[in-house]
Amino acid sequence: MKYNRVLVRYGELTLKTGNRHHFISQLKGNVKYALIPLSGYHVIAERDRMFIDLEPETDIEDVMKRVSKVFGIQSISPVVRTTQKIDEIIEAAVGTAKEIDEADATFKVDVKRSDKQFPHDTFELQSMLGGEILKNTEHLTVQVKKPDFTIHVEVRKEGVYIYSRVIKGAGGLPVGTGGKTLLMLSGGIDSPVAGIEVMKRGVTIEAIHFHSPPFTSEEAKQKVIDLTRIMAETTGVIKLHLVPFTDIQKTIHKVIPENMTMTSTRRMMLKIAEQVAHQIDAKAIVNGENLGQVASQTLGSMYTINAVTSMPILRPLLTLDKEDIILKAKAIGTFETSIKPFEDCCTIFTPKNPKTNPRLDKMEKFENNYDFEPLIAEAINNIEVLTINKEKMSTQFNDLL
Ligand code: ATP
Ligand code: MG
Repeated sequence: MKYNRVLVRYGELTLKTGNRHHFISQLKGNVKYALIPLSGYHVIAERDRMFIDLEPETDIEDVMKRVSKVFGIQSISPVVRTTQKIDEIIEAAVGTAKEIDEADATFKVDVKRSDKQFPHDTFELQSMLGGEILKNTEHLTVQVKKPDFTIHVEVRKEGVYIYSRVIKGAGGLPVGTGGKTLLMLSGGIDSPVAGIEVMKRGVTIEAIHFHSPPFTSEEAKQKVIDLTRIMAETTGVIKLHLVPFTDIQKTIHKVIPENMTMTSTRRMMLKIAEQVAHQIDAKAIVNGENLGQVASQTLGSMYTINAVTSMPILRPLLTLDKEDIILKAKAIGTFETSIKPFEDCCTIFTPKNPKTNPRLDKMEKFENNYDFEPLIAEAINNIEVLTINKEKMSTQFNDLL
């Protein structure tokens, strides 16, 4: 069957009537971004749904694969567009029905006839197409109430649209409609998944990564850049803030008792993240923490680490099992990169026996023995900011803005 159009059904954004126009135009931009570098398509955003018209040479499966990852979409369907000639409509309806690859399935034909000039009325067209489908297939029977499949036929002035297959979309809300957050991105499995989870709720992210050259390698830095690029694949351009953290980590190890160094390291990271968040007007910090996973992620640790900031911290993976996080990382395509063996700054400086319940008053006392502020200011002054988008697409993307 030669499909030449994709029907896109909006997700939850239908609920948000006040913002509808903004949501739809953002989603249209996001769909176009996801389709880069393909060509030969035209996106038409209507109030209730979106269409992507395709040139004959455009690969519809590739288009659907990309669009199904865009947040804010409930489902998509490949559609055949014909003229109003009855032979063409029959051929397309039969072709669509033949593609139903389920034995003994039931179907019905559902006609919507918005062009009242069309010579056949709704009932007539429905029974004619139903009859042709029965004649030309062996595995289908008609069932009007609750059929397994519905062959939809929309008769409009400009043409007739026929479709049946419905593919689940990514759900959520269009990225760019919910404000901005700052993602604390390590090279591990969890934090990229945390970033995607919040983007699913419509927010954009910038990412911050702490590295400690020469203790951490160029490869470790490249890994974080690669992870950011994968996240940017369907969600849009992402800025990555690379913070030089060597001096702070060395100092922590000099002045803080070893079993509290991890806690202090996290506190320094969070202090810096908070300042960067203010600079970029982000309204929350996101991390990949998971309750009880490691020493720094017990409730006691979170309490003492969290005490340095009053900014909301979003922890979308807080209660998930590791297996589920891994499944998500595989689905978004970050897993293979995350498991590459380049150590990040925390792994290298990890104490042998980190405290699982570090007391806040003790932590503050130790940190107060040294003035970390100049080091923090210097790290912030030397942040390197990279703008990461899909590979080799910057000029094309500028055209869309
Ligand atoms: P991940 O797989 O995301 O590294 P993890 O289970 O290894 O998580 P930790 O290493 O304890 O957990 O880190 C907890 C969270 O702290 C991470 O999810 C991330 O948000 C943040 N984080 C850790 N290291 C860094 C880093 N070098 N730069 C930025 N954020 C970091
Ligand atoms: Mg980690």
